[in-house]
Amino acid sequence: MIEILDARKAQVLRTGSDSQALVCDRASVAGSVSQRACVFCGARVVLYPIADALHLVHGPVGCAAYTWDIRGALSSGPELHRLSFSTDLREQDVVHGGERKLERALRELITRYKPNAAFVYATCIAGLIGDDVDAVCRHVAADVGFPVLAVHSAGFGGTKKDGYAAACAALEKIVGSVEAPTAPLSINVLGDFNVAGESWIVKDYYRRMGVNVVACLTGDGRVAEVQRAHTAQLNLVQCSGSMTPLAKRLEERYGTPWKRVSYFGLEDTAAALYEVARFFGGDELLARTAELVRGETEAVLPEIERCRAGLTDRRAAVYVGGAFKAFSLVRALRRLGMVTAVVGSQTGNRDDYEHLRSICDEGTIIVDDTNPLELARFCLEQDVDLLIGGVKERPIAYKLGIAFCDHNHERKRPLAGFVGMGNFCREVYASVLSPVWDLAPARAGRAAARATQ
Ligand code: SF4
Repeated sequence: MIEILDARKAQVLRTGSDSQALVCDRASVAGSVSQRACVFCGARVVLYPIADALHLVHGPVGCAAYTWDIRGALSSGPELHRLSFSTDLREQDVVHGGERKLERALRELITRYKPNAAFVYATCIAGLIGDDVDAVCRHVAADVGFPVLAVHSAGFGGTKKDGYAAACAALEKIVGSVEAPTAPLSINVLGDFNVAGESWIVKDYYRRMGVNVVACLTGDGRVAEVQRAHTAQLNLVQCSGSMTPLAKRLEERYGTPWKRVSYFGLEDTAAALYEVARFFGGDELLARTAELVRGETEAVLPEIERCRAGLTDRRAAVYVGGAFKAFSLVRALRRLGMVTAVVGSQTGNRDDYEHLRSICDEGTIIVDDTNPLELARFCLEQDVDLLIGGVKERPIAYKLGIAFCDHNHERKRPLAGFVGMGNFCREVYASVLSPVWDLAPARAGRAAARATQ
């Protein structure tokens, strides 16, 4: 069993026996091989789903390759976002500067692809050599007449959260750049990235309620929608880690109130829809919402009950980017009769972890900014049947012979809304109860023990 690094011990606690606050919100410990992505990656995942924008990575080609199509975010129209452009900075550029190369690349790409905006991500090398990316962007924007924005995301400049903030700063410069009237019953959804069609599910619920979604930031995103986002009457923050800074800025600038919601799980989805209905008020809107929630819940409940019968008392580990997702997962797993034995996030804050402590069962391990060795240890120690995470957690689960559910980058079936809960429970059921795990060498002893119980 591996030891937890001394410098990380305060970022792990066990509910029931540890009473101290979890240490979080700090740079990863050197040598810990954090599961977190870098600043640039944080910025790119937020802006990337804006499908009619050019995304140019100013740095060595590896930064662009490493994040190419990172979330596979779906678009109902243009797909310019799925191309990965890089200025491919080399030794000569490091010596002489990369600004001219950047300007040439920007002009060539804009001429060829005719985007509606361009984002230029400044990576570690651009930050180190001191390229004035803002000046290049301003220069090109003056000629092309649409937003060309520097995203200050040098990987060494902080944590993934700083990348989220850089993305929010770029979005804020686009919001409000066109005049438009305020639509009645209008909202923005902040922090849904349409990895597998989630934005379409959420928008459809609001359409049926009679609520107008002005912009989804940034799932299936379009520049024109982002420009009009200041006209919405309410901002709903679905990914709190990434989009809270933007919601706060829009409240300061336009007075738009914001609320934190989740579209994962039956209870949380219903709460998100009722939150909007209550915000606007009116008996008809409330009645439409109640009818939608009742109909969708009834459609999915039999499947949940079928899966629950096989999953009761099975144990799960959860490791996700933002802690708000973890809250919803703990509740959804409980609905399936499962126990959350390990839960953690890359970017949670102190309040998030206190809330997690309050909703988890006694003995749950809560962890901030973990690494693969720790996570493997916690999974074994807590004897979990399932790990829920993203692309970097998948190999950990498979090496341990544990079922895995991708809650992030590589999903092909959406998990949002009532229909998403149906997809989630079917996937967890099929994966946890698959006989293949009994054949995994790492699990052979455990399977034998279970057979004799
Ligand atoms: S840490 Fe720096 S060099 Fe590595 S991917 Fe991020 S921006 Fe690029």
